[in-house]
Amino acid sequence: MTAVIHPAVADAYRVFDTGEPLERQTASRLAALPGDAVLDLASLAHKVRLRYAPDARSVHACSIMNAKSGECGENCRFCAQSRHNSATIEVYSLADEEAVLRQAAETFAQGIEHFGIVTSGYGYLKMTPEFLRILGMIDLLHRELPGLNVCASIGVLGEETAAALAAHGIAHYNINIQVAPSRYGALISDTHTVDERIETVRLLRRHGIPVCCGGILGVGESMAERLEMIYVLAELDVSVIPLNVLVPIEGTPLEGSRTADLADIVKTFAICRLVHPGKIIKFAAGRESVMKDFQGLLMLSGANGLLTGGYLTTRGRDTASDRAFIDQLAQFGRELQ
Ligand code: SF4
Repeated sequence: MTAVIHPAVADAYRVFDTGEPLERQTASRLAALPGDAVLDLASLAHKVRLRYAPDARSVHACSIMNAKSGECGENCRFCAQSRHNSATIEVYSLADEEAVLRQAAETFAQGIEHFGIVTSGYGYLKMTPEFLRILGMIDLLHRELPGLNVCASIGVLGEETAAALAAHGIAHYNINIQVAPSRYGALISDTHTVDERIETVRLLRRHGIPVCCGGILGVGESMAERLEMIYVLAELDVSVIPLNVLVPIEGTPLEGSRTADLADIVKTFAICRLVHPGKIIKFAAGRESVMKDFQGLLMLSGANGLLTGGYLTTRGRDTASDRAFIDQLAQFGRELQ
């Protein structure tokens, strides 16, 4: 008996042959793929990643520091740092620059070359004293740790703050749209709009800053809505796409949420790769704590990056264990050559 590849997966091989992004109609067919065809799709996504993604056989790793925690006035439903939620977290104002330097130096010494400064809150539309302190941290890291790529994720920006980050040599700026823009208000937050975040992405692009922008899976969205998000990210021409899987935190409205279906998560990662053949797709939150033993499968379903060393309010795996994991993934890639 001959195994037959599902027609939708066979059609999607066009991406492998041409490097052209997957068209929407085939993406919708892949989203409805039966379970027994999902690994064929994952395999295709992995091959596309090895053929078209930058530094195809290596895994892009980055680490973040929550430099300001909690007390946020926005009401993002997944977030432990929102004042609207009642999660128990450590709350502190902007860290001093020595603490940031210490953490960045530890990260860099472990071979992680991208380090992101993250702050809770809406963002910085103007050059406030706090924003100027963040610019000072960026300068300090550049001065003391040459070769480290300094990134930031500090919320919505205005014209002058985006220009300042460009002038201070930020490597990537992270701001996520989280879900399909049409569902942002219902699934994520109604104290601000997704348009403010999209406008920040456009502003960053105009200032020549590479953007890291993605979303979160498992907050009540459908597969069709995940596709909407993936195609909006293509329109925005972002450089890095972080995909998070919801970690349902006690004290948030999403506490107790069911884990998103694994086969659908694999499909989402794989379709994302096929729509973005040459981009960095990074597995962020939920990798260890939610996906557990299946994180390796997801890293072989089109992803080529990961966030290591912990998340904003939840712990991750230590960087040494992730280093060993990254080496194994790279070896697996080489063996497929
Ligand atoms: S995700 Fe950011 S903006 Fe939303 S509540 Fe959390 S810290 Fe505030």
